[in-house]
Amino acid sequence: MPKRDDREYKALHFIVNMGSQGVLQSDLWRKLGASSREGSRIALKLENKGLIKREKELFGGRWTYRLYSKRMPVSINSIIDCPCLMCANDARCGAWGTISPNECERLTAWVLSLRQGDADLSGES
Ligand code: SF4
Repeated sequence: MPKRDDREYKALHFIVNMGSQGVLQSDLWRKLGASSREGSRIALKLENKGLIKREKELFGGRWTYRLYSKRMPVSINSIIDCPCLMCANDARCGAWGTISPNECERLTAWVLSLRQGDADLSGES
């Protein structure tokens, strides 16, 4: 029988891999071979550690929870447009150099465009 910490780790790994669609609590416990009572304890523990969030959902006429990871793995797509990747000054650029990311307008504009993209997705203006 696996230790509880192993199940916590496996549960978190599974939840992270489900991405933004999350996973129903009952499906997860079935996958891990845990009882619903044990599963609920693990979910609460992960939530209390700030690793997941639980959202109540009506499924098949019964209330359950959908579990989402609070952190997602970084994807290469998130930096594909970063100006540093194709910058001619890349080798000479450094925090304490004459060419510095601290003063780079191209990098600042890119970071701000990311923030604007987040705002567009969340409906902020
Ligand atoms: S911070 Fe600016 S200058 Fe430095 S590598 Fe990136 S784009 Fe080039």
